[in-house]
Amino acid sequence: MQIHTAHFDISAPDLDSCPAPELPEFAFIGRSNVGKSSLINAITNQRKPLADVSKTPGRTQMINFFRINNKWHLVDLPGYGYAKVSGKKKDKFNEFVSDYLLNRENLVCVFQLIDSRHTPQKLDLQFSQWLMEAGIPFVLAFTKSDKMKMGAVNRHAEAYHLAMGEFCEGLPRTIITSADNGLGRKDILTFIQAAIDAQG
Ligand code: GDP
Repeated sequence: MQIHTAHFDISAPDLDSCPAPELPEFAFIGRSNVGKSSLINAITNQRKPLADVSKTPGRTQMINFFRINNKWHLVDLPGYGYAKVSGKKKDKFNEFVSDYLLNRENLVCVFQLIDSRHTPQKLDLQFSQWLMEAGIPFVLAFTKSDKMKMGAVNRHAEAYHLAMGEFCEGLPRTIITSADNGLGRKDILTFIQAAIDAQG
């Protein structure tokens, strides 16, 4: 897939404020600092970085919609696992994201981003398990792979798969990425194109 046009549509503070469910949606989520904005900017390859929008004050906790080629929405979800927010705020935030994930009718697939520099982290595994149990299709995208030797990246991905074996049979599609050198960009776009085509 070539990216012809990509622009910011809207930030939504709750499910009711999301755009009409007309376009297939592909959502990106991960822990804060996982490299989500960088990956979104690498995928969409715009001169003016798209995902800066989601870093503007007031929008970090919102769902941000980007319209790609007028054909699909790239959906930037708030990061999970903010250590700094209070318990109450965290609950509300989780509720909003889970509301979107569980109820958005045109959501096709979630890309769960995982920092490839680390051994399996509990918070990531918990989220994978939650997606699995909710029956939400997802892809694992390991980020920042350029920061490590590829052998270590693969070992971390394998360890993650092994840990997932505790709660699931079969494994999600896994893509190794780097916003720095573009690794995985083509695979992600090819996957999205195939998923759109499969919908007819
Ligand atoms: P976000 O909070 O998940 O949106 O993360 P950012 O995209 O802002 O990235 C967090 C930090 O990691 C920034 O300093 C980025 O420059 C860096 N980073 C993100 N992706 C990559 C990558 O693929 N390679 C390298 N080397 N650094 C990255």
